[in-house]
Amino acid sequence: MTVHERFGFRKVINARGPATILGAAKVPDDIRKDIYDILGESAEIWELQRRASERIVELTGAEAGCVVNCTSAGMAIATAAVLTGNNPAKIKALPDITWPKKKIIIQKGHVTGAGDCPVWQVIKMTGAEYVEIGEALDCATFHLRAALDDTVAAAFYIMEDTFAPNLLPLETFVSICKEKGVPVICDAAYLTDFKMLAKAGVDMAIYSGQKWLGGCTSGIIAGRKDLVQACYLQEMGIGRPMKAGKECMISIMSSIDYWINRDVDGIKKNQLQLANTIINEIGDIDGVMCEIKESLYSPSVRLHIYIDDTITKIPAWVINDDMGKLDPVIKTDDYYVNNGLIIFDMAYIDEGEDKIIADVLNSYLTGTRKPLARQKEIGSVPQTRQDILYQIFNQWLEGNPRE
Ligand SMILES: *Cc1c(COP(=O)(O)O)cnc(C)c1O
Repeated sequence: MTVHERFGFRKVINARGPATILGAAKVPDDIRKDIYDILGESAEIWELQRRASERIVELTGAEAGCVVNCTSAGMAIATAAVLTGNNPAKIKALPDITWPKKKIIIQKGHVTGAGDCPVWQVIKMTGAEYVEIGEALDCATFHLRAALDDTVAAAFYIMEDTFAPNLLPLETFVSICKEKGVPVICDAAYLTDFKMLAKAGVDMAIYSGQKWLGGCTSGIIAGRKDLVQACYLQEMGIGRPMKAGKECMISIMSSIDYWINRDVDGIKKNQLQLANTIINEIGDIDGVMCEIKESLYSPSVRLHIYIDDTITKIPAWVINDDMGKLDPVIKTDDYYVNNGLIIFDMAYIDEGEDKIIADVLNSYLTGTRKPLARQKEIGSVPQTRQDILYQIFNQWLEGNPRE
């Protein structure tokens, strides 16, 4: 009996990747085995943290590393660390800050979600004074220079591929902050180049342990030794309700070993084959365009499918929405679905699932499968991502909120 049968939930065909809302990574056997072993043991947490730090240094090239419970927790803890340093009285004082160095600055255009909560929420929960600079689509060097004074504890930089092109590039941002002696904290939850941020001079970078690294719920703060030390000290303060357990440290260490030793070419070749199953079945349909793309934010093969609904008569969002009702449910990277683009990340697609996806897409696009989508209730207007998310979170006890 599978866990799905025993506990009664649908299997997910995951073409999205390690999204937190889909349970994050599909953890490989080797990593699961190590987590299983530690769960039956006791260990001194500081000792696990110290060994994890050595592995994190190897992965990132930073001076030291600390394991946290997840990326958003890491963002709050790194913020707390720049506010308090290693001063225990200050650590115990948060979120009340009685000293002047308490501003955290960020480009307005970087204010995305730390997951599904806004970035400012995890910063402000420390008591920090939160300051946005620039405009939604623009931030100039003069905005940054004008904001950096003695009251700034750190500057935040978010690594994502969805930002406007006229925000400050990382190199410029870091070099101006360095001029003014202000540390840079970087949210790099989805980044797969683990070495570039230490090299770029970022003071603390936060990576996810349960996204591409492939472990259980966990995160990494990698950076300057004094700051990383101050991160761990937050266990005595606001870090306590977001603590990382022994399984997190083992997971991070085991995941790093796994990441460093994985067969990148073999994995990509396999994924390319799975993507081709889909391309072969729907690539020739009128109004459909398939393209394989690489990304700094995924180590895998990503199949972009553009759907021109003036030709197909069925919009991408309706197909995507409907796939959320199937059993097994099919989940995609649907960030751009209202623009007609569905992205299939092949990282977690098992053999056989490629054919299921291909058949399902084909049946919608050729009209042999009729969608049950929300389209019926609300006409042909797509909803925003967060409206859909709210609906799910608000109605989860009532059955399938998409129906
Ligand atoms: C996923 C993500 C987060 C949040 O990660 P959690 O581990 O769910 O807290 C923060 N920032 C970015 C850029 C992310 O992609």
